[in-house]
Amino acid sequence: MNWHLADGLIMGAAIPAALFLFSRAVLQRYRLLRACAPAPDPITEYGTHLKEVLTIYLEQKKLFQDFKPGVMHAFIFWGFLVLSLRTVTLFGMAFYGFDFYLPGFGPETLAGQGLSLLKDGAVAIVTLMILYAMARRYLIRVPRLLNTPDALFVLLMILGLMVTDFIFEAGLRGSAPASVGHAAFLLHCLGILVFLVYIPAGKHMHILTSVFNVYLRPLHRSGRLTKLPLEDETVEVFGTPNIEHLSWKEALDLYTCTECGRCTEQCPASQTDKKLSPRDVIKKQKLFLVDDEAPRLLSGDKTKAPSKELVPDVVAAQEAWDCTTCQACEQACPLNIAHVQRLNSMRRSEVLMKGKFPPELKRVFKGMQTNGNPWGMGAEKRMDWAKGLEVPLLENNPGAEYLLYLGCNAAFDDRAQKVSRALVTLLKEQGVSFAVLGESETCCGETARRLGEEALGQELIGANVELFKELKIKKIITVCPHCYNTFKNEYPDFGGNYEVKHHTQLISELMESGKLKPGADPGGRAVIHDSCYLGRVNSVYRPSRDILKGIPGLEVVEHEKSEECGLCCGAGGGRFWLEEAEPRINHRRVKQLLETKPSVIAVSCPYCLKMLGDAVKDLGAAGVEVRDLAEIVGGALPAPKQVPL
Ligand code: SF4
Ligand code: SF4
Repeated sequence: MNWHLADGLIMGAAIPAALFLFSRAVLQRYRLLRACAPAPDPITEYGTHLKEVLTIYLEQKKLFQDFKPGVMHAFIFWGFLVLSLRTVTLFGMAFYGFDFYLPGFGPETLAGQGLSLLKDGAVAIVTLMILYAMARRYLIRVPRLLNTPDALFVLLMILGLMVTDFIFEAGLRGSAPASVGHAAFLLHCLGILVFLVYIPAGKHMHILTSVFNVYLRPLHRSGRLTKLPLEDETVEVFGTPNIEHLSWKEALDLYTCTECGRCTEQCPASQTDKKLSPRDVIKKQKLFLVDDEAPRLLSGDKTKAPSKELVPDVVAAQEAWDCTTCQACEQACPLNIAHVQRLNSMRRSEVLMKGKFPPELKRVFKGMQTNGNPWGMGAEKRMDWAKGLEVPLLENNPGAEYLLYLGCNAAFDDRAQKVSRALVTLLKEQGVSFAVLGESETCCGETARRLGEEALGQELIGANVELFKELKIKKIITVCPHCYNTFKNEYPDFGGNYEVKHHTQLISELMESGKLKPGADPGGRAVIHDSCYLGRVNSVYRPSRDILKGIPGLEVVEHEKSEECGLCCGAGGGRFWLEEAEPRINHRRVKQLLETKPSVIAVSCPYCLKMLGDAVKDLGAAGVEVRDLAEIVGGALPAPKQVPL
């Protein structure tokens, strides 16, 4: 029989069969997405979403955060873009003979010669990169990688495709027997079809979904939890009690995860041996959706009960409670997969639907409910920190430009109160027009929402929005980055729109304008610890650095784990109020920072101040102080303006 006729017959049967199996599996995955809940944010900013596709998908920008594997993956990806044209040509050859070329890409054309060169380069580079990927998994044994049969199969498949392509070319050029080349050609074409059928079944589904996942990432959501429609009486489900209560975008995330482990590698909870691994949460939810729950969800029978409870049968409650909401996982994920809202949604269903939460939170929720602060302290104590400072109250200064919102920590915690005093002294000395709410200040609601107590969070936010409206507040300065984030990114969902500044932003502006001039030489060596909610969540990194660099005589150093890569102090996401098992996140962070041999750890958040201060004491780090930027600047002012510490 004519060889090319045989090729045509084999491929003529194999291609439709593979396409059928592939389409059936993709359709099943698509129907599962449709069985999930609607996504909260419609796409409106098309240009920005497209830009994300260009930088994150095509340029593979986030992959380069981990440079060597980033280069490896990027070359495999770009190589595959070239090789996809080659694949179309090879399938054409199966039907029309080996002298088939894509129109305009014949061997006599410049485009054809260019493509041929590019293809040879792509085969060589992809082969090298796959060998490197195998070495990382099986020789170097990089801890974040899961050596599953799925991963091995895919690596071997790609390597096989490169080798068969190479042998086929050698056969065409006469440097290998034609029959061997021909066999390699058939193996290659059939291998591509096997790979196609395999894609929807494993983690390589990301080849199909990642471009959509990157495009559809909710913008500006980083620091903003979804607002639950608590007032809508027709809504009976809150959070994600069952897998279908994930939004379809959250389910698309599950299909897109490559199990690369970058999220888990950066997660402070995982780094300190807690139960939580963000990669494992994604993987467990995916297997549950696709393997266990697909028959129920695709049957369309809404009366069928789920085979298991999402929490605790699929994901342990402790995994959700371990999260500090630091966003290191989302920052590290090359495919824009969202973990924080997912973990928060599990907390929400536990708290709101089952009334389940760690016992130590009972007192915290009660304190916020009855007294508007997690300690449950009486309102009459809210201004104790201000004794002797003559702090202007808003009720007496209705024309003040800024509301200085202290937040519960800076008002009640002994150590954080010193920051409030230093800041107020600075603001007064600089003639900034500000006033505080005094005893009528209550919690901003951030912590309750992060802890899954959405009803309480919304109650606190609603009361604040009303009060701020009455007082005609337009500009807010916060001491705490958590208050900053919630006023800036979450209050707009509740009708509260303000110009919000963190105190380090204001201090930095005052220094930049030349009004505020630290002159006294404090000496020492300061290392910067970024607050997650100021840095990673809101990209505010410069003020701390500008402030410290503007203090004469102070040496400023950075740990390699800073800015986007900085480690959380362990307190975010309401973890400040929860017990933590050893080893502790704050100890790990302070040990890291001590590597830079600082005399001062410079922070900009009352939570970080307390957590890192405790760790310095626990670890017996002599001669190291933890100070807020406001204290450092206040202490560096020339006498007599100097703020006493
Ligand atoms: S937000 Fe932070 S603590 Fe939570 S899963 Fe991500 S990296 Fe881990
Ligand atoms: S969620 Fe992202 S970072 Fe984590 S394993 Fe999946 S792809 Fe990798």
